[in-house]
Amino acid sequence: MEDFPDQDWSEYEADDERPEIEKHEKLINKSLDKFDQDSSKYHWMKEKKYASMFSAIEHKLTGVLGRGQYDWVDRRVFDQVFDQSTLMSVFKLMQQGHIDTIEWPIARGKEAHVFFAKSQSGPIAVKIFHTSNAVFKGLMQYIEGDPRFGGLRRRHRELVNVWVQKEHRNLMRMRKNGVRVPESLITRNNVLVMEYLGDKNGPSPRLRDVKVDDPQKLFKELLRQLRMIWQDAGLAHADFSDYNIMIHKGEAWIIDAGQSVTQHHPKAKEFLVRDVTRLCQWAQRNGVEADLAEATLFVIEE
Ligand code: ADP
Ligand code: MN
Repeated sequence: MEDFPDQDWSEYEADDERPEIEKHEKLINKSLDKFDQDSSKYHWMKEKKYASMFSAIEHKLTGVLGRGQYDWVDRRVFDQVFDQSTLMSVFKLMQQGHIDTIEWPIARGKEAHVFFAKSQSGPIAVKIFHTSNAVFKGLMQYIEGDPRFGGLRRRHRELVNVWVQKEHRNLMRMRKNGVRVPESLITRNNVLVMEYLGDKNGPSPRLRDVKVDDPQKLFKELLRQLRMIWQDAGLAHADFSDYNIMIHKGEAWIIDAGQSVTQHHPKAKEFLVRDVTRLCQWAQRNGVEADLAEATLFVIEE
């Protein structure tokens, strides 16, 4: 499936026809793009109910979209993150008082954007998962419009929503069991609102980006956290790395728990061992004599 859309047809074409073909392709693509933009993409914004929804929140999104009416916003952020249904979710969260304003992007990932935002009770982090990622879009063009596969887009969105729900529940479950993770406050569809780790100048750094004074001590501490995740929360984090640990107020905080699974998952033990291995590798890179067998035993023994 994967290599199908990118198949190279050039060997089937005569060389002298190539420029002509390219010219046509360009033209077709251009008009398709234009068609896309004109006819479907932003049309919904002009509908009455959405237009009023948007004018109710656009001043709360100026940090990420730019100032002015929606005609002037940054279309790239817009297309990638704030599609119609996401805006509706943000709108609801704003109405309910969970979000006041969304200020600036902290991180732009392949699967999600994380934004610095404010609520009445202070700063928050808002993680917005992309509902239309590139891979999905690429496949969609071969399927959309085929009546046998109706509702695929909806089903994709539902899958993303389940993922967000999973991250929310994993974070809550870890926190309840003493693991140091940001408090997950609420989700709505593909939007997750959580405690912000940072200060007014910016987010706290990831472990990856800092030089640790006492790596031995941090190694022990992170092993303890892994042990709590496994023994007390009954989960495997499954993406434990220095990318997903933040150093906030002198402590290590674990983030990014969408992929975490319960011990019942058939690969739970495999994920756990990978997490411990990664931690040991980090420790060794930082001059700590970390023994994988010993570390694993510490995490799993009752
Ligand atoms: P991804 O799935 O894209 O890796 P993460 O949950 O790891 O998403 O978040 C991406 C980045 O956003 C992190 O590396 C971190 O820098 C930042 N971040 C995530 N959660 C928070 C938070 N609660 N407060 C501040 N920054 C955060
Ligand atoms: Mn991450």
